[in-house]
Amino acid sequence: MKTYGRFPIAIEKGSGCRLWDTDGKEYLDFVAGIATCTLGHAHPALIEAVTKQIKKLHHVSNLYYIPEQGQLAEWLVNNSCGDKVFFCNSGAEANEAAIKLVRKYAHTYLDKVEDPIILTAKASFHGRTLATITATGQEKYQKGFGPLPAGFAYVPYNDITAIENAVTDLDEGTLSRVVGIMIEPLQGEGGVRPGDLEYFLKLRKICDENQILLVFDEVQVGVGRTGKLWGYENLGVEPDIFTSAKGLAGGIPIGAMICKDSCAAFEPGNHASTFGGNPFACASAMAVLQTLENEGILQNVQARGEQLRVRLRAIVNKYSSLFTEVRGWGLINGMELNADIELTSIDLVKAAMEEGLLLAPAGTKVLRFVPPLIVSPEEVDQAADILEKAIEQIANQ
Ligand SMILES: *Cc1c(COP(=O)(O)O)cnc(C)c1O
Repeated sequence: MKTYGRFPIAIEKGSGCRLWDTDGKEYLDFVAGIATCTLGHAHPALIEAVTKQIKKLHHVSNLYYIPEQGQLAEWLVNNSCGDKVFFCNSGAEANEAAIKLVRKYAHTYLDKVEDPIILTAKASFHGRTLATITATGQEKYQKGFGPLPAGFAYVPYNDITAIENAVTDLDEGTLSRVVGIMIEPLQGEGGVRPGDLEYFLKLRKICDENQILLVFDEVQVGVGRTGKLWGYENLGVEPDIFTSAKGLAGGIPIGAMICKDSCAAFEPGNHASTFGGNPFACASAMAVLQTLENEGILQNVQARGEQLRVRLRAIVNKYSSLFTEVRGWGLINGMELNADIELTSIDLVKAAMEEGLLLAPAGTKVLRFVPPLIVSPEEVDQAADILEKAIEQIANQ
């Protein structure tokens, strides 16, 4: 299916933060499978875990108890603000589960809610299923797929007045009301935009005062990507529900929806997944999480992130007609292009690829840097050197 506009290379193998294409050309990988390959490529801990597990047992379905699933759920609960976990296979599915849980909670525990509304942010990204493209506050993802599911409304990101207005407007005299707010602690796909501390503190307060469930989409920022285990730790507030996927099993498909006991409204039969939480995916995730924990990888994320931003800011200062700013947390960083020039993020991705550095766009005007969390100081410097060389060539054209 012609679903993807692909770059014209095919990748054959990888090791650490390096990839090789089918022509034998080497790349430094600052995409990491779109922020999923937490431990890079062919990491010994992941190889050992998946090899051991596939020899023992890989899938049985949720008709039975799965010890590896229990172990992973216990780790997640012990290392987050959550109490209960539902496992699935992707970010979109984790967000679908969160949307269903918010609605189920509203219908079960709130008085007279006929049309529950979930607020989401403009420029957000929550996935590609029908409900999650509707939750995604960007028309380009929704166009051509109507009718879209009802029950979503949009507010600008980091704008508390918009939230206050939306909550009161919808309340008045109708049986439709805001029951959930679904938001990214840092908007990834929408341009690497970190959340404001003050905004999120007020958001938490508004949710508490109005019986609104606060849902964080941590699909891209969770599992150490920001230098903390969870994105919300950067904001000093806890969600009622959060979702994880991309980096959780280091590139093996998995999704998780985690919530507090107070809103765990699902009962047997309410939601399910055939593959979700199978022994293979769960053992992979445990290998990733234990490696993060035992090898001090979060400290590496903080230090390498700082190092990368210093280098990128120097480039932005040098080429100030091309770029506006660098922003991000830990190892999720964006470099924004000047809106007034023709150059796009795709142009720069192509130029860097030519020089042996893989980067991903985050929209048409932001370059995204999401390397494996094990990236070394030398690799960060090399990536910055390559990017600078590519930009120099563009600037001299
Ligand atoms: C990637 C992403 C998703 C969708 O995840 P899939 O695994 O592609 O379904 C949802 N939310 C955020 C914030 C993401 O970055």
